[in-house]
Amino acid sequence: MNYHDRKRVLVTGGAGFLGSHLIDRLLAEGAEVLCVDNLFTGNKRNLDHLINHPRFEFMRHDVCLPLFVEVDQIFNLACPASPVHYQYDPVQTTKTSVHGAINMLGLAKRLKCKILQASTSEVYGDPEIHPQVESYWGNVNPIGIRSCYDEGKRCAETLFFDYHRQHKIEIKVARIFNTYGPRMHPADGRVVSNFIMQALRNEDITIFGNGSQTRSFCYYEDLIDGFLRLMNTGPDFTGPVNLGNPGEFTIKELAELVIDMTGSSSKLTFNDLPSDDPTQRKPDISLAESELDWQPKVALKAGLQKTIEYFEQFVREQDDTGS
Ligand code: NAD
Ligand code: UDP
Ligand code: UDP
Repeated sequence: MNYHDRKRVLVTGGAGFLGSHLIDRLLAEGAEVLCVDNLFTGNKRNLDHLINHPRFEFMRHDVCLPLFVEVDQIFNLACPASPVHYQYDPVQTTKTSVHGAINMLGLAKRLKCKILQASTSEVYGDPEIHPQVESYWGNVNPIGIRSCYDEGKRCAETLFFDYHRQHKIEIKVARIFNTYGPRMHPADGRVVSNFIMQALRNEDITIFGNGSQTRSFCYYEDLIDGFLRLMNTGPDFTGPVNLGNPGEFTIKELAELVIDMTGSSSKLTFNDLPSDDPTQRKPDISLAESELDWQPKVALKAGLQKTIEYFEQFVREQDDTGS
């Protein structure tokens, strides 16, 4: 592609787990990519392999502040995603979702370009409808410890739809269900990275509650494929659309699987369940199937295998450097 045909794509949160994989796919497809990230939970390590790439540029910037750049498409992923990290500075989390959305929508408005929002299954809260369909409005505590994230993301969705109605911005809203894979932050507290790191070090596996709560785990490759299909839909399709793997597992089942697959001598321990922890979660993906012709392909065991290999390498490097 020559300079004139090439798409210029902005990825906010591009130094994070999903953002860095998205950037790899966009570059492979010939786009020019600008990554904007304040490196709060992201890491330049995720982008090391791109530093000399001629179509890649990194900008350290907080999306809570205005941003004046020239691009053709925006993927807005900037936001800490794990409960440990989004609860570390909850005010900043809400600001990132809300001020970040306003600034990126303002940018999309000026540039008249498409913008995709990385929303979340957390907009359904502790759901009373199972599996969750997009038409369900959710059951969210507005004043709890998860609210900075849940309500921040809900308000971001509101802003996306109001910019769409009021300013005719072309929007795409993806509601992402728990996604895992290589490049997750090893200490970000999410269940897949926690259990694998604990198992590899033969430490206790920390189950919160009795482990009967469920989650549905999507491998990152499937998710990124869904993102790109969504961005490529026509102007009439806005979402919100669920992206996730409908396979549903209890947290105890996940722990046992990880122990089994790593051959670990770790033991299960049962700890207090954090407040407002959703008891069940599973996406209804009929809309993604019909509108995006998308469904996940990677089974939990296959995805876990690759994720375990990534963390094994990480642990080896840590041991080698003594850090
Ligand atoms: P991540 O923490 O690895 O990535 C988030 C990135 O955003 C990081 O690089 C971080 O440094 C950056 N960031 C945070 N605040 C910022 C700010 N104010 N300005 C600029 N950059 C900022 O998490 P992830 O799993 O890659 O998640 C990416 C997006 O997808 C997030 O918006 C998250 O809410 C959403 N999401 C992820 C999942 C999942 O299971 N992975 C599920 C639902 C939604
Ligand atoms: N904005 C930005 N980059 C742009 C255009 C706008 O960061 O290229 C920010 C701008 O600073 C504003 C926000 O986006 O705070 C919302 O923009 P909008 O045009 O909707 O609102 P207004 O500027 O009228 O308040
Ligand atoms: N969880 C757990 N042990 C851990 C980390 C998480 O039992 O070390 C549980 C957590 O309580 C929740 C589920 O695993 O029920 C998924 O947690 P995660 O933080 O990955 O994401 P969530 O879906 O809650 O945002």
